Amino acid sequence: MNDDTIAAISTPLGEGAIGIVRLSGEEAVKIANQIFTGSDLTKVDSHTIHYGKIIDPKTDEMIEEVMINLMRAPKTFTREDVVEINCHGGLASVNRLLELVLELGARLAEPGEFTKRAFLNGRIDLSQAEAVMDLIRAKTDKAMDVAIKQLDGKLSKLIQRLRQDLIETVAHVEVNIDYPEYDDVEEMTKSVLLEKTTDVYQEIEKLLLMAKQGKILREGISTAIIGRPNVGKSSLLNTLVQENKAIVTDIPGTTRDVIEEYVNIRGVPLRLIDTAGIRETEDIVEKIGVERSRQALKEADLILLVLNNNETLSDQDRQLFELVNDLELIVLINKTDLAEKLDRNEVEQLATGHPIVSTSLIEEQGIDDLEEAIASLFFAGQLESDDISYVSNVRHIQLLKQAMSALDEAKSAIDLGMPLDLIQIDVTRAWSILGEIVGDTVHDSLIDQLFSQFCLGK
Ligand code: GDP
Ligand code: ZN
Repeated sequence: MNDDTIAAISTPLGEGAIGIVRLSGEEAVKIANQIFTGSDLTKVDSHTIHYGKIIDPKTDEMIEEVMINLMRAPKTFTREDVVEINCHGGLASVNRLLELVLELGARLAEPGEFTKRAFLNGRIDLSQAEAVMDLIRAKTDKAMDVAIKQLDGKLSKLIQRLRQDLIETVAHVEVNIDYPEYDDVEEMTKSVLLEKTTDVYQEIEKLLLMAKQGKILREGISTAIIGRPNVGKSSLLNTLVQENKAIVTDIPGTTRDVIEEYVNIRGVPLRLIDTAGIRETEDIVEKIGVERSRQALKEADLILLVLNNNETLSDQDRQLFELVNDLELIVLINKTDLAEKLDRNEVEQLATGHPIVSTSLIEEQGIDDLEEAIASLFFAGQLESDDISYVSNVRHIQLLKQAMSALDEAKSAIDLGMPLDLIQIDVTRAWSILGEIVGDTVHDSLIDQLFSQFCLGK
């Protein structure tokens, strides 16, 4: 199936301390050996590293000093022979190296093709391949954890277990359809069916609940800072950004782009809605009207409403409270270093149970409390649990929802006293939908489309 050898630059383009050209396929070792002067790569042991020079075989010109990692099939990422040529980097030299191996018969890899081969050769399943992609894109430590767990096959194992449960139930039903002569068999079968489908249904429901957190991990909690002019919104934004720059990991291949408004608070990534937008909310109500501002704010996952401790509450403040009262809200009473003129009792009434935090941004007081409030609002300690495999992939979430509705139909069919073979169809459909998550029942076109989303060289 994959009889050609592919090659690509596997490190991010641009300035880097090292660059890696990776080859995978039957000819990988042979091709590398033709340009390498260190040792005879066709004779060395698998999983060894070799120092030497790269020579252009046409001109005998020395191109690079390199370290070569040689890994023979099948214990490699793609399950094919893999050669990684590590050089000093600089775009020019990595490109030159790539050109050389292409001239010698390798083909330029398509985006994601290394991972696709790993999948096609049975090294990983589809959800794991998608985890590789998530890993490459992960912006925070927690998001990285989730992707690594998925890569580790936790999600796959869970899905496979649920599928196993379903298929066993179906088999059970089948037997009973074939031997209907036993007494009560129909009733018994239906009660087993109901129990099993309900079990699986609930497990999926749990996964989807965690998926909500998964989305937050990946995309960040979109957060709007609102309040009257001069209460300290910009100061808050600056404080959060200065103290909690988004963590960018050093794992090769992960994105190094830092989005300025992306901060990480105790593992909770916040996407602070762009600064310009935040500034505009200073008089958001006057500007766009109550209804429209309510609409705009609804799109935020979290609202930080800032008040000034040194001023009495105004009607504008009260109006803001009204706008955000049914959203996730944290109220900040800022400028506690100044005399208290704000009526705290009224603030507590207006906040209707949402957390209230006092800060003096200028004296750097209360910031810990704010961070604590944000963290507990979203995770309530749940993130500590190690055995949770989050679902954070949109495709998986859609499939889980579909499987749930198939099981729901099965359950109501049982309730309605429908014949067993009709119920069985719904259960089998749920089984097959779950199979699409791990790639057992997936179409080729989907596979192509998924892998094409990878970056080149992965
Ligand atoms: P914004 O208009 O809501 O964005 O408010 P700014 O962040 O621009 O702050 C307005 C003014 O209040 C600035 O002069 C800040 O230095 C000041 N300020 C912000 N936080 C505090 C605080 O906690 N205490 C005091 N005394 N002044 C503050
Ligand atoms: Zn401002």
